[in-house]
Amino acid sequence: MPETQDVVTMEKIVALCKRRGFIFPSSEIYGGLGSTYDYGHYGVLLKNNVKAEWWRAMLQEHDDIVALDSAILQHPRVWEASGHLAGFTDPMVDCRTCKQRFRADHLGELQCGQKPSKHPGEAEQCDLTEARDFNLMFETTVGPVKESGSAAYLRPETAQGIFINFKNVLQFSRKKPPFGIAQVGKSFRNEITPGNFIFRTREFEQMEMEFFVPPAEAGRWYDYWKTERHDWYVRLGIRPDHLTLREHDPDELSHYSSGTSDVEYLFPIGWSELEGIANRGDFDLTQHTEYSGEKLEYFDQGSGERYVPHVIEPAAGADRATLAFLVDAYDEEDVDGSQRTVLKLHPRLAPVKVAVLPLVRKDGQPELAREVTDALKRRFQTEYDESGTVGKRYRRHDEIGTPWCVTIDHESLENRTVTVRDRDSLAQERVPIDELVGHIAARLAADWRSPKLG
Ligand code: ATP
Repeated sequence: MPETQDVVTMEKIVALCKRRGFIFPSSEIYGGLGSTYDYGHYGVLLKNNVKAEWWRAMLQEHDDIVALDSAILQHPRVWEASGHLAGFTDPMVDCRTCKQRFRADHLGELQCGQKPSKHPGEAEQCDLTEARDFNLMFETTVGPVKESGSAAYLRPETAQGIFINFKNVLQFSRKKPPFGIAQVGKSFRNEITPGNFIFRTREFEQMEMEFFVPPAEAGRWYDYWKTERHDWYVRLGIRPDHLTLREHDPDELSHYSSGTSDVEYLFPIGWSELEGIANRGDFDLTQHTEYSGEKLEYFDQGSGERYVPHVIEPAAGADRATLAFLVDAYDEEDVDGSQRTVLKLHPRLAPVKVAVLPLVRKDGQPELAREVTDALKRRFQTEYDESGTVGKRYRRHDEIGTPWCVTIDHESLENRTVTVRDRDSLAQERVPIDELVGHIAARLAADWRSPKLG
């Protein structure tokens, strides 16, 4: 397996995202707010495609999973029952000299305020406190008056919203384990050491699914979801040798988990978690039964069978997955003596599927290009682009990962054909305008494999 990434660095990804309007540092005109980001046009389209592929894999390709969208604010007791109020902590140390706070278990990877740059605790002047636990939950107040009993928390994960709706979903869906509930939404963690662009932020989006199974089947379903989730990334073009499944050691496991595996990706910062798949047993339903007094179990009226299902949880991050797709797609190449930067994204993930480019802004070409754009945009995210030389427009669309550029030239006006340029192979094919929508649809539906695999 490769040890380091190829040409790509985090700096290059950050620069491309800013330059091409994928992702901007948030509140920039006020000097920025650490580790918060705003998604621009292409970033929204890309992340939406990532989430849509996840929903598709869950809801369309499985008929035993249903959707949920629960509130970000939940009853404070939810977080007592889940263990987050007591246990969702990181050990922290403060430095009395530079007044910075660090995660005690990450000291070796962090930079301290001292120059030349050192790890916290290494310089003579460093004066670290003992490690103390710091809760990662964001607290807020419900209602106009801050008083006791008005405290609430922004959810640190979407999973608990699923557990507290177990009974509702069971009743309406008449499902029988094994079945799953899936949710995508924002989560908030007061991370002590956020960083590495959108890899770790305090506000982020999760894609989580809780799969409820008969206790005896938990092992089998745990194995199933590990493979399924690993393969989802591969199907969407991530190079398999840059992806791995890592089983947690027993001392890494949460107290409720009898098995956890991480899908890890080779980010520019090294191998890091992309998604976690956990075998959570009956911990969550049992806790919420105890704290709420509502029985959360499966009861089969026909057979009289009754049990608390066990839970397998694949938990992914939409932003972290977006970053992995960007990193894996990024490439720099020499084309005809000049350099191009290109995002070799899976066409289904690409923000724009087709760009329509009139070669010149006269002779009826823009009008025909508009007609072609109108036909394409009913089916695909299409962009009409007439600014600058055609070479510049190709480069721009290479950088945002547009898989196909349709060029309108003088011949197009004579015989109603256009050229379709392929982002990856650079091959150009002449296609009749009347067949163009079908042509693009077929290419979008075709199997795709990263050209970086050779
Ligand atoms: P890590 O070990 O990186 O802190 P975690 O094990 O705490 O992650 P989970 O609670 O399992 O993460 O959350 C599931 C997924 O949510 C992670 O695999 C990741 O993709 C995403 N995620 C978690 N925390 C963040 C964050 N601060 N910023 C962006 N994504 C996150």
